Amino acid sequence: MDRREFLKSASAALAATTGLQVVQLNAQSLSGAQSFTIGDIKITALLDGFLPIEASAMFGITPEEFAAQLQTAFLSGPAHPTGVNAFLIETGDRRVLVDAGTGAAFGPTLGQLSESLSAHGIDPASIDTVFATHLHPDHIGGILTEAGNPFSEAGLMVHPADIDFWNNDEFKAAAPAEFQGFFDMARGAVAAFGDKVQSVEDGAEIAPGLTLMHLPGHTMGHSGLMLESNGAQLLIAGDVVHVPPVQFAMPAVTIGFDTDQDMARQTRMRVFDMVSSDAVPIAGAHIGFPGLGHLVAEGDGYRFEPMLWQFG
Ligand SMILES: [Zn+2]
Repeated sequence: MDRREFLKSASAALAATTGLQVVQLNAQSLSGAQSFTIGDIKITALLDGFLPIEASAMFGITPEEFAAQLQTAFLSGPAHPTGVNAFLIETGDRRVLVDAGTGAAFGPTLGQLSESLSAHGIDPASIDTVFATHLHPDHIGGILTEAGNPFSEAGLMVHPADIDFWNNDEFKAAAPAEFQGFFDMARGAVAAFGDKVQSVEDGAEIAPGLTLMHLPGHTMGHSGLMLESNGAQLLIAGDVVHVPPVQFAMPAVTIGFDTDQDMARQTRMRVFDMVSSDAVPIAGAHIGFPGLGHLVAEGDGYRFEPMLWQFG
């Protein structure tokens, strides 16, 4: 699939997700924050909400297999309520927010990041850096509120390949109507930081103990952060997985939102192999809240062991 064809499949995926508002919930009940310590670094998972994803948004799996995987995980289906998480990292005197939530981009089950921040006593103005794993709406929508950018004190860091892709007028012109908003939002989010935008490449240390890892495929600039402190590690892996109960067991399955399906698949397999071999925990934007845990190789895929509440 080339990068223009992706827009067609992503468009189908978009219809398969946003067309399905099977679950409504009381927005009041949807804030959540949970902190973990990795070495000397504090990471707080922040809940933004969830997005129902059904089999028709995925490639490389039949609806029957999709349903069977959900059943194996004691989930009812037909859609999986994929969580959307952001993460605040406190390292030294830095406060880095990894992704910025959906804002108003995806309807009533999402857009709760600001509530989760305030419920945990975190002032958005105290955040010095917003690191966008990539420029999809569920990661930057929270920047574009009616009241303006809540993180205007911060700078934006993002991989240059994502800025280039979403700024490409040729790709935008080729995109279906329902996808124009993705380009507009990506451009708007970058513009919201004015001259405080920094492109950061693979291997860059963006804050003490936080090193960028380019994980291309989901988008061309999609990147994670390797967090290292006092011999402890955590890979914040962004969108290497979207439907955890399916893609941990069947890592070859991709989603229509992947810009390059083959590259996204290869990146996922490389990341899963690396973290399971090295026993490095991962954090994911779409792993059920709080979204941290270890992968264990099992059969042809992996089993996820969530990190539990830290008592000390
Ligand atoms: Zn995402």
